[in-house]
Amino acid sequence: ARAQAMQIDQSPAVTYDDIGGLEEQTQEVVETVEDPLSDPKQFDAVGIEPPSGVLLHGPPGTGKTMLARAVANETDATFIRMAGSELVQKFIGEGAKLVRDLFELASEHEPAVIFIDEIDAIASKRTESKTSGDAEVQRTMMQLLSEMDGFEDRGNIRIIAATNRFDMLDRAILRPGRFDRLIEVPEPDLEGRTRILEIHTDDMNLADAVDLEGIAAETEGFTGAELASLATEAGMFAIRDSRAEVTMADFNNALEKVREEDDTSGTPIA
Ligand code: ATP
Repeated sequence: ARAQAMQIDQSPAVTYDDIGGLEEQTQEVVETVEDPLSDPKQFDAVGIEPPSGVLLHGPPGTGKTMLARAVANETDATFIRMAGSELVQKFIGEGAKLVRDLFELASEHEPAVIFIDEIDAIASKRTESKTSGDAEVQRTMMQLLSEMDGFEDRGNIRIIAATNRFDMLDRAILRPGRFDRLIEVPEPDLEGRTRILEIHTDDMNLADAVDLEGIAAETEGFTGAELASLATEAGMFAIRDSRAEVTMADFNNALEKVREEDDTSGTPIA
């Protein structure tokens, strides 16, 4: 199970420059994750422990994974990603064993960033039902917290968790010494959307008339992931029309298409 569930991430390097908006969030990640990894001595000198765990929370597709990947890349740390849902196992002790394996893998590859996506899968508020499944999920979470408690000896391992269901989280994991740094990753504002569109059209052959700020103004509520697919969709319209250059009309068509898809997804199935 270990080989398939837990992997050292080999995907292409992401840098802070690839992330649109999120300046404040990036700054916080630098202070809480990057500085302790790249210069642990400054914490020793002052005599404080760096935060053990950082929790990123916000809607899906806003760049939480990118941020975690970028900080690992910028510090030359190994990036190990695991989804909370993969830690939910059927058999007693299996989830806890995966957590132990996860930290073992990280310590074999220090410095390392462990990224646990969908942390809510193992750290939701306790439900009324006291089924054995819930107890097993609890044990998995306890194992995670106990690995984090052993942090002083762990040196160069940092943990970043992410969730898009912050309200569901068991507050116990937010106590001091645990995931005690909360960083909200919201939907991008106008400036953020413009920057994200710039980033995702950087390699595209855009006509001069393409007004990215105008598109950003039309896409309030879009996430980074949605803006990325809007740019791809605009490119598809150009290809269908056998053009290499992507025009403003292509973007407008792409917008229309995305909006229609939104409408139909909201329609109940008859
Ligand atoms: P989830 O909660 O669903 O895991 P996430 O917040 O981790 O989502 P990412 O996986 O980081 O989101 O983003 C998905 C994709 O959307 C990225 O690979 C990137 O192409 C694009 N994207 C999202 N946010 C941004 C951003 N702020 N700047 C640039 N691209 C972005």
